[in-house]
Amino acid sequence: MQPEIELAAKLFDALDRATRQGRGIVRDSFGDGEQAAHDIIRSAALALGLEVSVDAIGNLMMTLPGRDRRAPRIIIGSHLDSSPQSGNYDGAAGVVAGLWVASALRSAGKQLDCDVTVMGIRAEESSWFNISYLGSGGAFGLLDPACLAVTRSDNGRSLEATLLERGFDPRPIRERRVLLDPAGIRAYLELHIEQGPTLVAERLPAAVVTGIRGCKRFRNARCFGQYAHSGAVNRPHRHDAVAATVALLHHLESIWLQYEQRGADLTITFGELYTDAACHAPSKIAGETHFVIDIRSISQQFMDEVAGEARHAAVRIGDSYRVAFDLGATSDSPPAVMDERLRAGLLAQLQQPYEMPSGAGHDAAVFAKVGIPTGMIFVRNENGSHNPDEAMTLEDFDAGARALLGLLMNLPLP
Ligand SMILES: [Zn+2]
Repeated sequence: MQPEIELAAKLFDALDRATRQGRGIVRDSFGDGEQAAHDIIRSAALALGLEVSVDAIGNLMMTLPGRDRRAPRIIIGSHLDSSPQSGNYDGAAGVVAGLWVASALRSAGKQLDCDVTVMGIRAEESSWFNISYLGSGGAFGLLDPACLAVTRSDNGRSLEATLLERGFDPRPIRERRVLLDPAGIRAYLELHIEQGPTLVAERLPAAVVTGIRGCKRFRNARCFGQYAHSGAVNRPHRHDAVAATVALLHHLESIWLQYEQRGADLTITFGELYTDAACHAPSKIAGETHFVIDIRSISQQFMDEVAGEARHAAVRIGDSYRVAFDLGATSDSPPAVMDERLRAGLLAQLQQPYEMPSGAGHDAAVFAKVGIPTGMIFVRNENGSHNPDEAMTLEDFDAGARALLGLLMNLPLP
């Protein structure tokens, strides 16, 4: 076995042993599980001879020096926390890949023109605080200081108290202070397991990510009709909220199919749909529904178009069913587009080039948001993620890490 893959195997094994509780992995954000993962990765970085430091809020920086120490550096990173009862690879694979690359560069005797920093990012999942991207958002001074008062779901301790207990400093968050200057970062690269079934179905070990889907969501959509006896009211006199809602959702489903047919990236999901349990009954026409329309795409334009279509259709279908829709406001998170040159550079490194969007959010979105050229590699993973059954093979991991290494070996990009 080559030394890098041996290192990766050893690290995945150590992370698993240190943070498995029952069936699943528990690396609680800013808690003992995440800290155990940081300790393991830090020791490995020191053993590789990397320069190791920790920023004020606990992000771990492990640097392989380049020829010009002042040149903007390349960061390879991901998160070391997990969601509760998760798998061993979500997040950790990206940090281990960074060490894999640093080790390979070192043993090849290759010194890049700039530093390469492997970053173990804190609290991306942050399930215990229910605020994503605490580590990367905090590093760029993007967090709302109010988040310091948010309490951990299991022990009720605030984020501020939790940071202080770990020996970290909440002040940069309170002062929105930038800990990591975007101007000093040439590129951010992240390897992550794929969290859907695409690469398994396509029989591919790895893919380049085109972008991270944004989300436009009607969180609180409602339809108002009129409750009435199910047998006593003929169709022309009904104000049936359920029938109208189903017609609207069916229409949006057909819009999705049209986008799909022209190869446009889009998902539309109706994850909540209910009538009022206090008022509905088997013998009643429903007078009200509540539902959610979740629209995602790597294209802001597509999301805006679909949201506009939803509003128009709601008026039209509302009229024909004699009901009134109130879709309410949308909550919006913009898509993060990956850097064209990094995409092309990474794609050139894959034996079977393949690109796909990311449906889930990643720290890479935060780096892209502050204007840093960002690239991502997905690695095949069976059984999805955020569950104990994540299954990534070392061979597939190797293929992904090799693409990162190949990119760095071929700098500057054409
Ligand atoms: Zn992740």
